[in-house]
Amino acid sequence: MSEENLFPQEDFIQRILPRLPSKEQQELLQGVLERVARGDPEAGFDLDDAVLNLPPVAQDWLKEKYLIHERQRHGMETLPGQISLLPASQRWVCPEENCPEDEPVLQEGEEPPECPHHHRRMIRASQKEDHAG
Ligand SMILES: [Zn+2]
Repeated sequence: MSEENLFPQEDFIQRILPRLPSKEQQELLQGVLERVARGDPEAGFDLDDAVLNLPPVAQDWLKEKYLIHERQRHGMETLPGQISLLPASQRWVCPEENCPEDEPVLQEGEEPPECPHHHRRMIRASQKEDHAG
């Protein structure tokens, strides 16, 4: 089995972890991720459990990332929005025109995350659509 084809679920979880509404959940997940990184054989199961306790919007977001990853693995291109399990109102996107980065909205009133490439505060996807075309 080739490692490079594995879905990097941990990287995506790490990205949304600081914004999780519950501090307890953040700490629990951080602990599980550290065990996964150390190669603890049980940690994978605990991670699956922890993912099931994430807000539904975060689970849908991870599912989307997984589906896109699988398409890429099979050499299929995925256009932005082609695989979309989240409504635009529940998605943060980068304000830059062609930036594919996005994150789920985990709770109303939360601080927008920053785009890891452009270091700009993200906006709701619904706002971006309003401005486009
Ligand atoms: Zn960006």
